[in-house]
Amino acid sequence: MTKKEFILLLEKENIKIDDHQFSQLEKYFELLVDYNKKVNLTAITNKEEVFLKHFFDSLTVTKVVDFNQKQKICDVGTGAGFPGLVLKILYPETELTLVDSLNKRIKFLDLVISSLKLKNVYTIHSRAEDYGKNNKEKFDVVTARAVTQLPKLLELCVPIVKVGGVFISMKADAEEEIRSSKRAMSELKVSLEKKEVFSLPKENSSRTILMFRKNEKTKKEFPRSPSEIKKQPLH
Ligand code: SAM
Repeated sequence: MTKKEFILLLEKENIKIDDHQFSQLEKYFELLVDYNKKVNLTAITNKEEVFLKHFFDSLTVTKVVDFNQKQKICDVGTGAGFPGLVLKILYPETELTLVDSLNKRIKFLDLVISSLKLKNVYTIHSRAEDYGKNNKEKFDVVTARAVTQLPKLLELCVPIVKVGGVFISMKADAEEEIRSSKRAMSELKVSLEKKEVFSLPKENSSRTILMFRKNEKTKKEFPRSPSEIKKQPLH
């Protein structure tokens, strides 16, 4: 995908990008491919594919939330920074926290943050279950792309959302997981407010973005420990 094609795709989603932001994405791509030689971050290393399947795909989250408003965001299981860091580049006014349980990925994120001189971005090396215990009701928006099954994902992500805020899950297909998440939604006091089903341009693979609204404070018992979640998932 050429620069022009990428910009046109963003325009269709009402996303504006300037030359500085585009160069930041190019630098991010170079760092990703270089770091990927020693630490496994992604199977996608072709430039056109990274721009489509990581950068553009990350930005499809704007279908459900307006990031132009100053927001406090947390990206759980961010990996190499998707969607969180891409959002930060396009919406620099946001305050971003990136959580991942693998330290080698956190080190890569720190390198990108310092190389691109991004401000108000914090990296946390932790399991979301542990981070969630001490950071409840902290964020306006929590995102997670391709992290885990929805019933478990809700328990990892909803506790850190403010009451009235949203959790956004980015997946390929999600119908089956939505069906198995009724109990998790009820226990965690969220309602499914938006569901966007679409295809990624050019390659037509399916995508589903779910936006859950948090209606009440999370009960004290959530999130439970990783072993409890595994033993008794909220199905
Ligand atoms: N969100 C990124 C993306 O879309 O490219 C990464 C997806 S990768 C398949 C899943 C990531 O979630 C990995 O980086 C993994 O270390 C992280 N992860 C898995 N379980 C986690 C947990 N309980 N707490 C924090 N991070 C977790």
